[in-house]
Amino acid sequence: MTTMNCPDCGNERTRVIDTETSADGMSVRRRRECQRCSFRFTSYERPEWDSLQVKKRDGSIESFSAEKLRVGIERAVEKRSVTEEDVTNLVEAVESDLQSRETRIVSSSLVGDLVSERLREVDQVAYIRFVSVYKAFSEPEEFLRELDAVLDSELDASDSTDQSDNT
Ligand SMILES: [Zn+2]
Repeated sequence: MTTMNCPDCGNERTRVIDTETSADGMSVRRRRECQRCSFRFTSYERPEWDSLQVKKRDGSIESFSAEKLRVGIERAVEKRSVTEEDVTNLVEAVESDLQSRETRIVSSSLVGDLVSERLREVDQVAYIRFVSVYKAFSEPEEFLRELDAVLDSELDASDSTDQSDNT
């Protein structure tokens, strides 16, 4: 990881207080604060997009693949009213979240959590399909509880049909 020395006192320990990815996704703007003198400054960084690594449950590490993520999500949203665009947005949101983190190695369960969090808002059934594959529940009861919750809210949702415009 690159160190960003404080421009004021030269101290190399700085804390990131805000991260913003540019619209084209090619650079990251960070607000930093010096841990010694509290001087605040902005750094513009070009992250190494290809170097994000995912650590899997078995301990092996592989390069992050947005394509792979997309395939997993597409499988979950099959036959649901989820558009291509929804999937693209979801993949991009998750990727930029991962890219904005300080670490270049993320766990596969974090990736799974980020996807399921967002998928839940897009489509409940797709969400439950996704978590059943991606996130191995430690207890079968845990999965059933989750499933029940989803089915309940599906029923509620079907009471008030018509408007299907996504926000
Ligand atoms: Zn300083």
